[in-house]
Amino acid sequence: MQKHSAYRLTYALNGTGQLVDVDDVPVGNKCGCFCPACKEPLMAKNQGIKRMHHFAHQLGTECDYAIESMLHLLAKEKIREAFLSKSEFWIEFEYKSFCTNVEKCRFLRYNECCESKKQRFNIKQFYDSCEQEIPYDNINRRSDLKIFSSTNPQRNPIYLEFFVTHASDLEKLHSGNKIIEICIESEDDILQLAESGIVESNSHYVDEYNDLERDLQKVRFYGFKRKDYKNSHISNEIEFVRYILYKSGKTQCFQDVCDCKRLAKSKTSSLLEICIHTSVSFGLYEQVRYIGFQKFKIPNCILCKNYVDSYSGMGKICRMYKYLQIPQYESFDTARAKTCRYFAIEQEEMQSVVKNGLKECYTMFCEQQGIDDIFTLQSTPRNHK
Ligand SMILES: [Zn+2]
Ligand SMILES: [Zn+2]
Repeated sequence: MQKHSAYRLTYALNGTGQLVDVDDVPVGNKCGCFCPACKEPLMAKNQGIKRMHHFAHQLGTECDYAIESMLHLLAKEKIREAFLSKSEFWIEFEYKSFCTNVEKCRFLRYNECCESKKQRFNIKQFYDSCEQEIPYDNINRRSDLKIFSSTNPQRNPIYLEFFVTHASDLEKLHSGNKIIEICIESEDDILQLAESGIVESNSHYVDEYNDLERDLQKVRFYGFKRKDYKNSHISNEIEFVRYILYKSGKTQCFQDVCDCKRLAKSKTSSLLEICIHTSVSFGLYEQVRYIGFQKFKIPNCILCKNYVDSYSGMGKICRMYKYLQIPQYESFDTARAKTCRYFAIEQEEMQSVVKNGLKECYTMFCEQQGIDDIFTLQSTPRNHK
């Protein structure tokens, strides 16, 4: 018979306030049990062979919080039991080691210049005690479980908070204590924790101050050391778009990868290189071309209002190609604009493109200012503090 369910009241309080299994009590109203939420008397339905054994309110009106209260009590009891009875009890979370180059690293602001690994600790090596409903030392709150060392009272304890529908309050979570907040949705969740320890569920890293993303996680760590800025040998290849403007007026734009230490001008003959840290390159080429033109005033057909989409859908053509006696498509050199009398740009369009600007941070390497002169223009960082 299926024993565990999120939706059945399978445990209740007995006459002395102990949590008891429906299979361990007398049948029906003789069970002597009470609802963990409303404290009304219950009957045990523990004789059937078809339906899962469970408790029901004697008065026939089920209350809304019975199962939630049961799960909360059960979590405290089972996890305390597991911690005390086992020789190993593991916690596991994602740990990130970020780039040392806090001042200069262009990828750090996007939380990308880092390497991550799973940290696992057998907390039985550090703690031997676990008690329910113990007040915090520094704030006026109680914790569901406090895991601490009886032999070394100086060691910071770990507090566990279980929630079924309500997350804990922020003052508590950011109080500086080591807190693990655990969402319990079923008895299976509790068994899993008791068996395998407390493992951060999402594989991707979520900052403890990012409340939105954190909501998706069932296990959340607060106050633990989870990152450092000491990684001096990062070899993460990070993707970006590189735009190059040459003195000849030729341009190039392509996807590139490198780590933050090698992010530098790539061509000795380039006049301007713009590295755009983005995964979306739509519309960016046009923007960087305009910026290049603003800066160096080197014409290129791509910017010209006579350079238009062809009717045949074959790509761009110069409206004046017959008159200028130049090829229509093949080997069309857009740098020819430098000597073209008909080069003309739409000032307004250009200004609006530049104003609407790049939505991601970008870095420019200009010949005139030297490679070390780096501009960071508009940026809308994703999520950083
Ligand atoms: Zn009730
Ligand atoms: Zn870096």
